[in-house]
Amino acid sequence: MTRMTAPIGATVPGYPRIGPDRELKRALEAYWAGRSGRDELDAAARTERERTWRRLAALGLDSVPSNTFSLYDQVLDAVVLAGAVPPRFASLGLDGLGIYFAMARGTGGVAPLELTKWFDTNYHYLVPEIGPATRFHLDATKPVQEYREALALGIETRPVLLGPASLLLLSKPADGAPGGFAPLDRLDDLVAVYELLLTTLAAEGVAWVQMDEPAYVAERTGDEVDALRRVYERLGGLAERPAILVSAYFGDPGDALPVLASSPVEAIGLDLVAGGLPPEGVDGLGTKTVVAGVVDGRNVWRTDLDAALAMLRAVEQRAGAVAVGTSCSLLHVPYDLDAETALDPQLRSWLAFADQKVAEVVTLAAVLRGEDRSAAFEEARAALADRAAAPRVVDDGVRSRLAGLTPGDARRGPYAERAAAQRSRLGLPPLPTTTIGSFPQTGDIRRARAEFRAGRLDGAEYTARMRAEIERVIRLQEKLGLDVLVHGEPERNDMVQYFAEHLAGFVTTEHGWVQSYGSRCVRPPILYGDVSRPAPITVEWATYAQSLTDRPVKGMLTGPVTILAWSFVRDDQPLGDTARQVALAIRDETVDLEAAGVGIVQVDEPALRELLPLRSRDQAAYLDWSVTAFRLATSGVGDATQVHTHLCYSEFGDVVAAIDGLDADVTSIEAARSRMEIVPDVAASGFARGIGPGVYDIHSPRVPGADEVEALLRRALAAIPGDRLWVNPDCGLKTRTYDQVEPALAALVEAAWRVRP
Ligand code: GLN
Ligand code: ZN
Repeated sequence: MTRMTAPIGATVPGYPRIGPDRELKRALEAYWAGRSGRDELDAAARTERERTWRRLAALGLDSVPSNTFSLYDQVLDAVVLAGAVPPRFASLGLDGLGIYFAMARGTGGVAPLELTKWFDTNYHYLVPEIGPATRFHLDATKPVQEYREALALGIETRPVLLGPASLLLLSKPADGAPGGFAPLDRLDDLVAVYELLLTTLAAEGVAWVQMDEPAYVAERTGDEVDALRRVYERLGGLAERPAILVSAYFGDPGDALPVLASSPVEAIGLDLVAGGLPPEGVDGLGTKTVVAGVVDGRNVWRTDLDAALAMLRAVEQRAGAVAVGTSCSLLHVPYDLDAETALDPQLRSWLAFADQKVAEVVTLAAVLRGEDRSAAFEEARAALADRAAAPRVVDDGVRSRLAGLTPGDARRGPYAERAAAQRSRLGLPPLPTTTIGSFPQTGDIRRARAEFRAGRLDGAEYTARMRAEIERVIRLQEKLGLDVLVHGEPERNDMVQYFAEHLAGFVTTEHGWVQSYGSRCVRPPILYGDVSRPAPITVEWATYAQSLTDRPVKGMLTGPVTILAWSFVRDDQPLGDTARQVALAIRDETVDLEAAGVGIVQVDEPALRELLPLRSRDQAAYLDWSVTAFRLATSGVGDATQVHTHLCYSEFGDVVAAIDGLDADVTSIEAARSRMEIVPDVAASGFARGIGPGVYDIHSPRVPGADEVEALLRRALAAIPGDRLWVNPDCGLKTRTYDQVEPALAALVEAAWRVRP
């Protein structure tokens, strides 16, 4: 079937939705706290949608997306759309919005859906639970209402939907599903819902829909690729439907591309930044529109318009028609560079946030139509040339240090010797107890930091307040009987931003908020130049903490891979080089901590797995540079200094070689929620250094009892010898409250005592 529809021209697959000033965050939090009502929340949501559509239309997009707004998460919206609400929520007796937020956040003893990373980004989605009994039924309210809302403003939009194959591939089997069941088994039933959806949208007058199928840029089995074929043969074969754009971003769709090219859909969206040009000679691609994502939707650098145009010309050769887009949704970048009035003008001229990226897309589409945009091209060239030649980007000292590195710089002494030296230095009991670093961030601490920042609190008073907090946390840990203490991290707003603020080569923004999940936003720093550490960062806090107690206090640092993962990184040199620069800066800090008498240093790498490339062919190279960076950061200290690392997930088996490669003396990892499921993997891998599988789930307000922790420890002890087993929570305690943390840690210490030989 060939459809006569307007060409897509210039578009984006998605746009931020939290509000340029985080208006939606405030509206949500006021609503959740009972400080405002449903009407106010609805009004705030409507305002943000309207602002977005008007803005995108004014910037000149030919095809404006809708249904990219969300009150919490686009995957959760897809759950509602498909009627796939798990029974534990449906039976709560709440209205639609109540159920929606219960799925997102839990309510009165009912656990929320699991939150997990959206591909290799720092956005988190809610994991749908699909079982054999899930009763799909269409609820098209949201896409239909939003389409109408935009139309009433005079803006014809393209509803964006999560495609059915990706929805199921991102789901997990519902509790009680039989072994061997996979959510994808329910594909045919779910596609029936989407058929009805497309028919409904066609009746509304919708000309184009976008179906996102990002799951296909990761490794997929032949059956899973076949599932995609079935979906788009059925949807494409509908008599009454809008034109379909299937969008696969964050990488190269591999085998999914020929499947889509030979299906009856009208357009295919590709991420040319992460995935490169589609191969030549793909059957059927010559009949499709390719929406070419040539403007990077995940980073903040201005586009090389000449290079982007060359890619578009190459796509023109391979496709029936070409439209221009960003590589992925702009959800992952801040709204508008113009808000950064305090940013240095030279740096600013090198950057593009969401609105600037939309303008780049519009410019490129105009040139494809034959219009003259030479002024915009000239400006882009000048900015790029300025950046390439800017002295501030290069630090010769850092470069020569990097050039002089030898393999020995990333290697410590043999583990057995280190372990012996550390045993005699630290004198810890078997199954030592510790925490991951942060203690609850009280209102007082947050206020002190904010007042200091605003200049209302002077340096001396700020230091005094932080020291008082550190002393309180040390005394509490002594009282609880923990063996290895921490200072509690009260001075840190965020584990990456804090270090970025103290390292050369980074800038931080004022308004550069990016949604992490729900109402939570982060402000990733921008890493623009060679990185170095001008002065010690944590040494004073750590030595102060150590001066208060005879027990060892861990120095706490963030690792190079995590610093990269949660920043906008430069795109003008290989990531591995940038990682080694950051690693050397952290290495300087570990060496200074050691010299100041700190005997244990923890270098957190919670993002190690998140950056793991989606395609297996790219994974070895990544693991090589990421592991090297960590080792560079931690190999400057002597054998008697104990290096810890912390990883924020429980998929030990996925990255066991990398965890082993880090060569840390002690690794803490999440395990409580999965009830020590990682332990057999640890045993099977032959991992032979210290390990602390978390025994307290800090993601939940629940306080575990000593019996429960004891049972977890006994399970761990069955596979991990007592002289290598550590006792710790799953992660930092900063999001919990003291009334939860105190009894939980007391239970943890009590359980360790009971289990110790
Ligand atoms: N040390 C950090 C903390 O305790 C680690 C946080 C993390 O792993 N995300 O907060
Ligand atoms: Zn963690």
